[in-house]
Amino acid sequence: NRCFYFDEIASTNGFMLSHTTELKNGDVCVAEYQSAGRGRRGRTWVSPYGHHLYFSLFWTFPQGMAQAMGLSLVVACTLVEVLKSFGVENIGVKWPNDIYLDHKKLAGILIEMSGQADSQCQLIIGVGVNMAMSDEQGKGIDQPWSDLSELVDMPDKTALVIELQKQLKRDIQLFEREGLAAFKARWQAADLFYGREIRLLMGEKSVEGICRGVDEQGAVLLETADGVQAFIGGEISLRAR
Ligand code: ATP
Repeated sequence: NRCFYFDEIASTNGFMLSHTTELKNGDVCVAEYQSAGRGRRGRTWVSPYGHHLYFSLFWTFPQGMAQAMGLSLVVACTLVEVLKSFGVENIGVKWPNDIYLDHKKLAGILIEMSGQADSQCQLIIGVGVNMAMSDEQGKGIDQPWSDLSELVDMPDKTALVIELQKQLKRDIQLFEREGLAAFKARWQAADLFYGREIRLLMGEKSVEGICRGVDEQGAVLLETADGVQAFIGGEISLRAR
């Protein structure tokens, strides 16, 4: 595999999206700074210079998006486990793909697509992790955030890139073979809201209930007075109640 390394770039996902014809599964892009780091739904990923990770990995799904449903949960499991292997504690996931440390956002995942959703598609899996963020650098973040600066041994960025690439390749291959079923227990172990009261925001509407994990499509399961219902979709945000 290849790693494209940039001192500065608009967006590592953007770079990969414009070079899909040259890429192989597992190729990565890493930058020290993103001038236009992206989040979901047109949001910004604050990406200052310094000891932070801005990482994208390329993968092709020959059968299109349907085959990749739930991939963001796989990536979240992998990222949490890799960070734990570097000594990060008190870390977990919030459905569908946010990583929290001490209940503040540590990392984000953004999966973007190129190609045909219903036949072959190329996916770019973007990961941003705050490693040592100063208050000044974090000023633009409009929600509570965290970083790894409390760690006794701050991970070496290159070691983190190598491990993340290796484990993502392994887990995406497992996902291709066995689907999300192979990750249910791992997700549950990392889920910060499992068994807790949550609220799902869907535009103007919201529903409340107890979080019962995820199903095999990657939908979040909510137990209400009417029983357990599955919710899925990019417009849904999960909140603690
Ligand atoms: P939410 O976190 O509210 O559920 P989301 O999953 O749609 O939203 P992402 O696309 O993962 O959001 O990330 C974008 C959001 O994350 C931004 O709107 C901002 O609130 C927050 N954010 C941006 N940069 C950082 C950063 N470096 N560290 C932590 N949080 C950030």
